[in-house]
Amino acid sequence: MLNFQTKGLLGLVVAIPLIAALPLPDFWITQLNYIGMYSITVLGLVLLTGVGGLTSFGQAAFVGIGAYATAWLTLNTGISPWLTLFIGMGLTAGSALLVGLITLRMSGHYLPLATIAWGLSLYYLMGNLDALGKYDGLLGLRSLSIGDFDIGQGRAFFMLTWIVLVMLSAAVLHLLDSRAGRAIRALKGGSQMAEAMGVNTFRYKVTIFVLAALLASIAGWLLAHFQRTVNPSAFGLKMGIEYLFMAVVGGVGYVWGAIVGAGLIRLLDDQLQVLLPRLMGTSGSYEVIVFGVALVALLKYLPDGLWSMVDKRLPRRPRRTDWAHAADLPVRQRPTPGEPVLEVQAIRKQFGGLTAVNDISFEIRAGQIVGLIGPNGAGKSTTFNLVTGVLALTRGQVRYRGEAIAGLSSRDISRKGMARTFQHVKMIPDMTVLENVALGAYSRGHKGVIAAMLGLNRAEEQRLFKEAQRQLERIGMGEALHEQAGNLAMGPQRLMEIARALCADPALLLLDEPAAGLRHKEKQALADVLRQLKSEGISILLVEHDMDLVMQICDHLVVMEFGTLLTQGTPAQVQQDPKVRAAYLGTDH
Ligand code: ADP
Ligand code: MG
Repeated sequence: MLNFQTKGLLGLVVAIPLIAALPLPDFWITQLNYIGMYSITVLGLVLLTGVGGLTSFGQAAFVGIGAYATAWLTLNTGISPWLTLFIGMGLTAGSALLVGLITLRMSGHYLPLATIAWGLSLYYLMGNLDALGKYDGLLGLRSLSIGDFDIGQGRAFFMLTWIVLVMLSAAVLHLLDSRAGRAIRALKGGSQMAEAMGVNTFRYKVTIFVLAALLASIAGWLLAHFQRTVNPSAFGLKMGIEYLFMAVVGGVGYVWGAIVGAGLIRLLDDQLQVLLPRLMGTSGSYEVIVFGVALVALLKYLPDGLWSMVDKRLPRRPRRTDWAHAADLPVRQRPTPGEPVLEVQAIRKQFGGLTAVNDISFEIRAGQIVGLIGPNGAGKSTTFNLVTGVLALTRGQVRYRGEAIAGLSSRDISRKGMARTFQHVKMIPDMTVLENVALGAYSRGHKGVIAAMLGLNRAEEQRLFKEAQRQLERIGMGEALHEQAGNLAMGPQRLMEIARALCADPALLLLDEPAAGLRHKEKQALADVLRQLKSEGISILLVEHDMDLVMQICDHLVVMEFGTLLTQGTPAQVQQDPKVRAAYLGTDH
């Protein structure tokens, strides 16, 4: 997917001077200039809303900060307009950081509402400050120039805008296909899985919020110098909605969708403003109504936007595997055999009146496979969530390699070397199997957003992919590296999650029903892999309903029923226990 979008950008680089050389009427060059500037803002929304799942109606306000900053500075100080770009970006980053830190903890519909409030308040601020010319705005900016060469208008400005657009698009594409990008793409499905991979989801939300604001600010800088005047009307809520509309129409998850959406809406807007009043016989902003109706229809029939139709038709080529000689990732020091790895001490969890886990205690030593079994609803998954920090304990303590970890976040716990899978598979369906698994190695890498955007992460990416491929091959999925994860059957999806957990180089692995949906042969292969892991010194806590598998590979069993510990012991002891037989066969005891 990504490499075709990149090729398209290369095509654009060639096309830009050609278009500039064509004898197009100035009207069309102006249109293209607007499309270029809008696309830059919409690109930010692709990242924020399309990929990150955070809806913002407030982008126009950030365009405004960039525009007003350069307008005020160039009119009132002698600072070069080129320098004001960076001052504007600094101001934007500061405000976005502040707004982001306050609003991004809100969930659901509160965030879009907060961005509306933010957009409105900035609009009224711009319209009421004397220094900013109130609703008349600031007039009389000079055109951008390099020496004596005027590049602020017409074709020269077209080249400037579109080259900036191509560079920023390439940076966003690079970002999306990186360690940080995979973390960003994991945000949409909720934070639980990403945090379990060691990702600080809140920090990434703030980061993409600031990035999107910065893109808007760059567009604002261009806009101010192109129009040579700024006034609040271009930065109000109506424009904020229109930017979001462009992103949705184009296809909010795709970089190219930004350009398609911005282009289409700009052209339609222009044509409809002339056409509709003529059709209706009176003047008025009828295009708003047409857009509204079109948006509803689009969301219903083509929720992924226009570019998704193009994307579906693009041939998918597997990623080039160029990491055979990459260095291995550093490995964690494993516990010595027999050392206690996990000590669960009288843990309890209450959900209101229900005690889902009632004073459960057990221990796992290095290199042991411990099975946690019991009927549905016994509290096994809840125990998992308590141990891994997903849920807070009501009471009790958990020690990992001797250290008390109750109260730590699931992210911190995972970074200590505890990796898990989920009873209900959590993955990023539109990424390949390899990319999903590489997310598991997240906390073994370091390169962040900026390195990714500049393409300075190549070596680390190779190391991460090499590890992901190694773990997938180990689990018998070497053939499926480049398949889209969402297309896998249930069994392979579970195996993929195990490979992802192994990528974290865990000392303790927690598997929640890994064999559900596997065929007999696949189960045997899984048993072999688990034994292999054990022989490497990895400890495993296993929740599983397949008793044959459990009896075969576990060293120790913990049996739960209705939240309480029924019994524990070796498989042979547990099998003989009348209480267990009763629980499983449903007879009274
Ligand atoms: P198991 O994994 O053994 O099938 P669970 O741990 O999923 O069992 O559930 C144990 C009990 O706790 C069940 O009665 C379930 O309905 C309840 N439970 C689990 N999660 C929650 C929750 N978040 N809120 C309220 N009740 C829950
Ligand atoms: Mg469960």
